[in-house]
Amino acid sequence: MASINPVDGGIKGNHNYYVPEEFFRRDAEKGSIYLRDGQRAAKVSEDFITGLHAGLDDEVGDAANLIMYKCGYEWALQDMKRFNERIRKEYGGGKIDIWQMNTRFVFETWWWPLNVEGFGHWSLDLSFKKKNLTFVEIRNSAVAFSMKRVGKPVCHLYAGLFAGTFTFFEREERQCIEVQCYSMGNDCCKFMVGPEKQVNAAEFWRQEGASAEEIKVNF
Ligand SMILES: [Zn+2]
Repeated sequence: MASINPVDGGIKGNHNYYVPEEFFRRDAEKGSIYLRDGQRAAKVSEDFITGLHAGLDDEVGDAANLIMYKCGYEWALQDMKRFNERIRKEYGGGKIDIWQMNTRFVFETWWWPLNVEGFGHWSLDLSFKKKNLTFVEIRNSAVAFSMKRVGKPVCHLYAGLFAGTFTFFEREERQCIEVQCYSMGNDCCKFMVGPEKQVNAAEFWRQEGASAEEIKVNF
């Protein structure tokens, strides 16, 4: 069993962890939950996610989508800073950063805790790297599973999260669009990450009725 020192974020024991008990540390006295690296966390229900989206929608209408996107984006920037620190210590001997490591290893290691936290399974298509595009598939999106089937993408938090993550990693501004969502009746959610121009083109095609696969082959 791994142990955690929440003061310096030092991690001892196994690299990999598979059950929530290895991942969350509870401080019953303070009523707090911490992640493996000492980051404070909160557990929320599907009702909370639904309420958050519905409440924002009531207050600001369509701008709610942008707010959720920006929340995801800012979260990603903070999370990637923590992640890089953790990975440099845990795998890089204190010297090697995520940019010097295998890209797929980096991203699988980044997503795994989010998987344990309930954000769903992901798969990553890096085969469009030369075009500065990345495609992400999410199964069991926590947002889409909480919402009704509304016939349009709802996972703006995820889109922002991927935009921020790839902006940090690729050191260039990236945006993200959800080209297919569970809320549209699909079996999973699909996202495209890339420069603004290509993301805008993908959004145009999506609104014209193109499927995720049709959008992909257009690039
Ligand atoms: Zn979705």
